[in-house]
Amino acid sequence: MTLAIEETASRPAAHAHAILPGLVAEGFTGPVPRFGDPSWSLEALVHGPGVSVATIHWKTVPAAFREELRHLTWLLINTSLPASFLIGRHPRWRTTVSPGHVYPTVAIWRAFCQWLQERGISSLRDCTPADLQAYALHLTTERAMQRNPAQKVLAALTRLWALDSSNPFPVGLCEPPWLTEGADDFLPAGSSTAENSTEPITPETMGPLLIWALRVIDDFADDILTAVLRKEEILARSRQNPATPEGQAALEDYLGRFIAAGDSPPSMAAGNRTGLAATYIAYMTGAAVHQVHHQVIAGPWRERLLSADGPAPVFTELSGTVDGRPWKKFIDYSEAGALKIHLTTAAYIVVSYLTGMRPREIQGLESGCCPEPESGRHLIYGRVYKMAVNDDGNHVPQGTIRDVPWVAIEPVVRAIRTVERINLDGYLFGDLPPDTMNLRIEKFIAWASNLAKSLDRPHETVPEDKYGSIGVSRFRRTMAWHIARRPGGLVALAVQYGHMRTAMSAGYASRSRNGMHDLLDLETALAAADTLASLNEDLANGAGISGPAARRAINAAQHAPEFAGTIVNARQARALLENPSLTIYENPSAMLMCVYKPDRALCNRITEREAPRLDRCVTSCANIARTDDHADQMRQEAESLAKQALKSPEPLGHRLEARARRLREEADQHDRSRILLEETR
Ligand code: SF4
Repeated sequence: MTLAIEETASRPAAHAHAILPGLVAEGFTGPVPRFGDPSWSLEALVHGPGVSVATIHWKTVPAAFREELRHLTWLLINTSLPASFLIGRHPRWRTTVSPGHVYPTVAIWRAFCQWLQERGISSLRDCTPADLQAYALHLTTERAMQRNPAQKVLAALTRLWALDSSNPFPVGLCEPPWLTEGADDFLPAGSSTAENSTEPITPETMGPLLIWALRVIDDFADDILTAVLRKEEILARSRQNPATPEGQAALEDYLGRFIAAGDSPPSMAAGNRTGLAATYIAYMTGAAVHQVHHQVIAGPWRERLLSADGPAPVFTELSGTVDGRPWKKFIDYSEAGALKIHLTTAAYIVVSYLTGMRPREIQGLESGCCPEPESGRHLIYGRVYKMAVNDDGNHVPQGTIRDVPWVAIEPVVRAIRTVERINLDGYLFGDLPPDTMNLRIEKFIAWASNLAKSLDRPHETVPEDKYGSIGVSRFRRTMAWHIARRPGGLVALAVQYGHMRTAMSAGYASRSRNGMHDLLDLETALAAADTLASLNEDLANGAGISGPAARRAINAAQHAPEFAGTIVNARQARALLENPSLTIYENPSAMLMCVYKPDRALCNRITEREAPRLDRCVTSCANIARTDDHADQMRQEAESLAKQALKSPEPLGHRLEARARRLREEADQHDRSRILLEETR
């Protein structure tokens, strides 16, 4: 529990705790810094997985401001602002900050003090509203900060002022001008939340990445886990081998056979090189490990053993296949550990992408979080960190159990079951900070791409994403993007996106329209706005359009310029989605556009849903419109099907031919009935 700031009796003494006992994390036994210490480690505050530990070094704060910031930092950690401070603030304001935000907040304060010092100011009390205004300008001009980070700086400075002005011993920092004049005037243009501004991973990258993640879980997990167990057994048993003459004889015989055959004895990776796999050889021969080492030092084959680079298979009866072909011949002693990490990473990718959980929420998942349901869907019960607040509206750093569990579709359940085999208790994904998981994903991608090449599947290598590395924070946005735009795309991977949208709606219950609902709305609206814009351009360039909803599509397209680049948050997204005359969805797999009117939708007759079920599109629906581009795509598809039909046995060949014929007929029908923009004026 924090203290109420107005009740703080006096400035703490040098020997006082920098972090009050009530805030020290449960189970923490290390030293807690003292108020007067030259540095404060924040380790004692850390709760939950994936939180980086930081230390505040007071010598890095300009000397003139050091004692002022030391006291304000103590207040930041140990006290809460009066609840009245929240009145009129953004709903995300809290009277306290989470442990993970203490260090970044102090870092912002320090940078501000450095800037003040450069202007010849030596105390916060001498800073004027004009200085604060100049600092806001400095952030967006000289430091070229985007809106989001600049917003965070202003929020941290607001908190600095609030802590100072609310405590009984204020330094006297003035009120920031943005509190009275509105922050917008102090921030650069363009706005979005951090989550909304995360770029989705492109389908070209996400497709193969998901293929490999699912494959590793579904097809390779048993092999990998067996190899890991074998390696553990080798390690345990070989350590117990006593040094006996029989063991020595078996060792010499074993090594001698390799030498006689001209083969290299088993080796293992040691940094960038390989060395003799002594533990493995001890296990295979019954010799003691030091007998193997001694053989290298004093035996007759010293050079051959020192340069050993032969395989050390721990598991050879692999069951996993890719397209009927074994994914590997054997698993080597050296690679079992790395494969285990790839397996966990694959599970992380699947859970992250197919649930839409935030990285810290995944890090907080514990073994047993997804029990077998008595009926219906699997549900995942986890902790929430980002929005975790107690009854007083304060942030709860250790998270709270999520009111509404996540819905887990089958691949996610399998991924969770797989990591539960590795981590029987505690956190499913260990206590890894996001940066480490990002690195693991990069390594997973490199490994999967190499495997794709070795299995003659170059089309399944994972290409670089055009927006940069695949950080864990991008999966959530990517899922929303795919649900909104590619209902028929990655569905081929047995992941039903139509079902996903239903699952999401059920899981992210209507009591909260934040989070995933907002992201889905945003992506759906962006997809609709893109469709409107390209239709408008095509029509202006003389493209034709056909189908029962053609005229409605033309009318809607006229509004495209109103939405170009304007949809950056969920509120704006809903404004578009709630306008029934504007909701047009591109349906690439059905080669048409859905000009959505719920009362006419054939895919959607039972429930009143906001979005059409593009994955269940019905060809006779009154919401269909087709452009010349769609007709071209249909002819190309018909041609490809006709070629496949020639090579296919009956009755498949007949079916493919019939489908090709239907597509050509529909394309011809488009040509006969297409209308142009000018004809409607
Ligand atoms: S059936 Fe109709 S409403 Fe549903 S996706 Fe197809 S065109 Fe849209």
